[in-house]
Amino acid sequence: MAGTDMIPDAVFECEKCDSQLEPGQVTVSYLGSSFPVELLRCPQCGFVLITEQLALGKMLQVEKTLEDK
Ligand SMILES: [Zn+2]
Repeated sequence: MAGTDMIPDAVFECEKCDSQLEPGQVTVSYLGSSFPVELLRCPQCGFVLITEQLALGKMLQVEKTLEDK
């Protein structure tokens, strides 16, 4: 019996279409800059999943990049 208290972080599904999200490159705009980010997206409706942890990590990265300029 597998535990069900944790959602496995390797598999996410779109709430709308019940499709498995696939990793893909998405262009994100932040602070006037656009940059490609690898995110999970729904192949059916194009929904992009941005987890809080991922978003925070990426945004920190971008802020650092911008500050270096
Ligand atoms: Zn979908």
